[in-house]
Amino acid sequence: MAELNPFKIVHKQLEDCARILKFDKGTHEMLKRPMRELHVSIPVKMDNGETQVFDGFRVQYNDSRGPTKGGIRFHPDETIDTVRALAAWMTWKTAVVDIPLGGGKGGIVCDPKNLSQGELERLSRGYARAIGPDFWGPEQDVPAPDVYTTPQIMTWIMDEYSKMQGKNQFGLITGKPIMLGGSLGRGDATARGGWYTIREAAQILGIELSKAKIAVQGYGNAGYFAAALGKSLFGCKTIAVSDSKGGIMDEAGLDPEAVNEYKKKTGSVVGFPGAKPISNEALLELPVDILIPSALENVITEKNAGNIKAKISAELANGPTTPEADDILYKKGVHVIPDFLCNAGGVTVSYFEMVQNFYQHYWTEKEVQEKLDLKMKTAYHAVVAASKMYKINMRQAAYVVAVQRVVEAMKLRGWV
Ligand code: GLU
Repeated sequence: MAELNPFKIVHKQLEDCARILKFDKGTHEMLKRPMRELHVSIPVKMDNGETQVFDGFRVQYNDSRGPTKGGIRFHPDETIDTVRALAAWMTWKTAVVDIPLGGGKGGIVCDPKNLSQGELERLSRGYARAIGPDFWGPEQDVPAPDVYTTPQIMTWIMDEYSKMQGKNQFGLITGKPIMLGGSLGRGDATARGGWYTIREAAQILGIELSKAKIAVQGYGNAGYFAAALGKSLFGCKTIAVSDSKGGIMDEAGLDPEAVNEYKKKTGSVVGFPGAKPISNEALLELPVDILIPSALENVITEKNAGNIKAKISAELANGPTTPEADDILYKKGVHVIPDFLCNAGGVTVSYFEMVQNFYQHYWTEKEVQEKLDLKMKTAYHAVVAASKMYKINMRQAAYVVAVQRVVEAMKLRGWV
């Protein structure tokens, strides 16, 4: 479906932004394109002795504000346009929280659930070799875990890159295991950063968080921590969660830890004892205070946006809402905390990890959380202010704040 191509959505969102900021054609053209991208073929010896060739990508979207930064996804439906879109969103994400980095993204078309550990390791190392020694690096382009990738996968990639360089290069990646230079507080950073923005939004909207009901779509790293932190930080009740296989619901509130344990054991939240089944579609339309889409792109569209009853939609996933749906939600008065603001906590702590690696000096978890809180709170209020000033929705406002910073950097450097 052409209209759901995420890169087309990026272009549509940029057009809105161009109208508001009135930037010139050259600037607009530069913002519409990735600066560099690499497409690679990765041959992998499978456990059955046959060779399978996988397609991989790395997109460096814009490095005007600093080295490009962004995760690597392993997903069966990955396309170059999805990676381009996600790399563009990383560019706006690092800009909206004002960390000195650009945006990039990587991906491999594969189904990690059907690969053995050995195949996964050979694929990860093959990807690192295919990207090669020169295309990325600590001061150039720094990847991190993303959808279906883990600190272990990142460590294999970093190890292979170190071998190509002939020296340890822990700084190639962030989201590293703590013993290899990872930062405390990186594990739950995306969800925690999201909650700091939700806390600010709730205050403005007069929502008492200790009485709030939440629904979480997607129960991976971001979704699980969203439910767990909602409870531990603010006493919110998670009444429904889901994953790719389906959802569960309990009006009395689900125990996020118990659901996580159950999912680890069975591979899904579906069938969790004592909970009622609910579809992913129905979960999005529940009458909750806070909806937290934490799975993949394009789940809130013009077809279901009219039925969303949440007061806040806090987008921990990248690209969960289409532009048509955005208009509908804005008119309905749903307060959307847009993806690249709401989920910027992950990359913000990745940046803290880079700083700690450069200094070889490590902060306590509390220090990381306090610094994250300040970044997220400042970014959230800058976006609210732009939304009020230009009378635009929160996503357009986040674009205005972020893209303005990227344009300013490009202008200062004489690119446009
Ligand atoms: N993959 C995460 C994101 O989409 C984090 C990226 C990073 O830490 O570089 O924001």
